[in-house]
Amino acid sequence: MALIKKVWAREILDSRGIPTVESYCLLDDGRFATASVPAGTSTGSHEALELRDKDQTRYFGEGVLKAVDNINNIIGPVIAGMDPLKQSQIDQKIIETDGTENKTRLGANATLAVSVAVCKVAAVSQGKAHYTWINELGVEIGMAKGVKIPTPLMNMINGGLHGAGNLDFQEFWMIPASFKKFSEGLQMGAEVYHSIGQNLSRRGAIHSVGQEGGYAPNLFTNADAFEVFVESVKQTNYSLGRDVFLGLDIAANSFYKSGEYTIRDRSSVLSDDQLLDYYKDLVDNYRLAILEDAFQEDAWDSWKKLYNELSGTAIIVGDDLLVTNPKRVQKAISEKACNCAVIKPNQIGTITETLQVVKMVKDAGWKVLASHRSGETNDTFIADFAVGIAADYAKFGAPARGERVSKYNRLSAIEIELDFFKTQTK
Ligand code: PEP
Ligand code: MG
Repeated sequence: MALIKKVWAREILDSRGIPTVESYCLLDDGRFATASVPAGTSTGSHEALELRDKDQTRYFGEGVLKAVDNINNIIGPVIAGMDPLKQSQIDQKIIETDGTENKTRLGANATLAVSVAVCKVAAVSQGKAHYTWINELGVEIGMAKGVKIPTPLMNMINGGLHGAGNLDFQEFWMIPASFKKFSEGLQMGAEVYHSIGQNLSRRGAIHSVGQEGGYAPNLFTNADAFEVFVESVKQTNYSLGRDVFLGLDIAANSFYKSGEYTIRDRSSVLSDDQLLDYYKDLVDNYRLAILEDAFQEDAWDSWKKLYNELSGTAIIVGDDLLVTNPKRVQKAISEKACNCAVIKPNQIGTITETLQVVKMVKDAGWKVLASHRSGETNDTFIADFAVGIAADYAKFGAPARGERVSKYNRLSAIEIELDFFKTQTK
């Protein structure tokens, strides 16, 4: 079996024009793989550390040369000679070399870049699709065998830290009904996206697109965005509540300050309870199916109330609350704070740790939502990862912009592949 010969990295730009890490893993039989890591804009404060140079003479301090150096001079030499099929041993070696709780020595951008490149090269060297190999790695740690294409949550309208400053909520999603095939859902998403664009343009409200390719419109309130959304769906062949549903990543951290939430739909600031009442109205009025990060990342009591009051109607998702961290996920399971976890490998820093969190989430009977970041590259690994862990949902942004559609298009390719295998085994 081929062993790891050399691992190295370089600094590249992400979709926001901000540096990120691209890594290479070369085996001694000449096979190799590359991986590049995404980065968040509305990051949770409990995420693993993303190492930035803080050298103000380059990229406003956002350079990643230290992370690159950590790969070239520390992680690479430590894992050279190891068997790429032993993902958990390699990740364990990286974790031990880092030696900190939150990857503060090496940086999670360095550790994940290597972990993913190893995972990819292992798949390549066995002639397996990435998603197949990821599923096998999951099975190794006790997850169920079997892959599936997730339902996409397509981000049509961008607000919060991803938008143009006009909306408070970060992501307004169109969700195709789960009985739709992925390819049908994608077509529906693209048609609704264009319908929203036409509507906004008629109202003179298109400002630009946001970080994830959704429109960042010039509207007065968050409720206005829902009205445009509903109107736009009506102008397609699809019906809201039957073919398509709406969902939100509220990303409440971004409009929370000192115990209060400020949103433009209300003239005065809101307490947690008042915000919860507002959400109840939204869920009723717009049939919201999924709600992510409705409260700030440490408001555990409000999360529990939200779960009690709304989990019968909508799926309650934690992202900044959980940050793909086993301790926080365990707390949320014990305290019944949500019933779905966003899974972002770069929040924790290795493939093995991410798989362990996915297992924990599935064992609790929760749903799994595999997610990109607002700062992306054209790496499509997260699409394979979503299929390999049999995620229920995946969010890769709008059905527009190269770094977003590369992932949706990868899911289409996998769907065709899986359909082909099904016909072969009949
Ligand atoms: C999110 O909050 O779910 C998200 C994808 O945004 P970011 O990558 O900026 O955290
Ligand atoms: Mg989020």
